[in-house]
Amino acid sequence: MMTNEDTMRWLGRVAEVLHENRDYLTQLDSAIGDADHGINMDRGFSAVRDKFPAMAATDIAAQMRTVGSTLVSTVGGASGPLYGTAFLRAGGAAANKAELTSADVVAMLEAFLGGIVARGKAQPGEKTMVDALTPALAAAKQALAENASLAEITARAAAAAEEGMKATIPMLATKGRASYLGERSIGHQDPGATSSWLMLRCLAEVCSKM
Ligand code: ADP
Ligand code: MG
Repeated sequence: MMTNEDTMRWLGRVAEVLHENRDYLTQLDSAIGDADHGINMDRGFSAVRDKFPAMAATDIAAQMRTVGSTLVSTVGGASGPLYGTAFLRAGGAAANKAELTSADVVAMLEAFLGGIVARGKAQPGEKTMVDALTPALAAAKQALAENASLAEITARAAAAAEEGMKATIPMLATKGRASYLGERSIGHQDPGATSSWLMLRCLAEVCSKM
């Protein structure tokens, strides 16, 4: 079971890890974008961190909605509305649940990816965050079907996201800013797929300690 304290631990780790990876994400975005993905994610999650004291007492659905609306209002780039919608949808999936079962966590991940697809209309293979999250969701569903523990479900999702992230390197970008580069987008890892992997890695880390 995942409680609203576990989700705060997850969000806290995400804020830390995105801050630590600010330059890395920005470097990735300098190759195929406008060199701001790390700046965008760090700005968004530092604004989220400012709301942690108020969020700690609320339920998981409200926490996720706060993250979503904060990202939408503080992140200027494409990633703000995309991740913002993802967290808002994740909040919808967690509505009226005091704690999350493994199946609830997988449903939240499905809603998260669904939000990104609804907002950005990217299919797998277009060199976006969808390429990390789609295999992550498939791996999580598979692990859930095998009755794996939440620690194992999230570890397998994070591992699949890492593979998906690496698989963006040879892809041709057809969505977002990187698509302006055409063939020159080939050979670079997608920044958004990388931030998605980092978020899932944090989730797996928190779930391994529950
Ligand atoms: P911007 O592109 O506005 O500078 P960011 O640099 O913060 O915004 O985010 C770029 C990332 O957003 C890309 O690496 C990609 O993963 C993701 N992205 C862009 N467009 C889409 C889309 N339509 N669907 C899904 N993800 C997208
Ligand atoms: Mg950018």
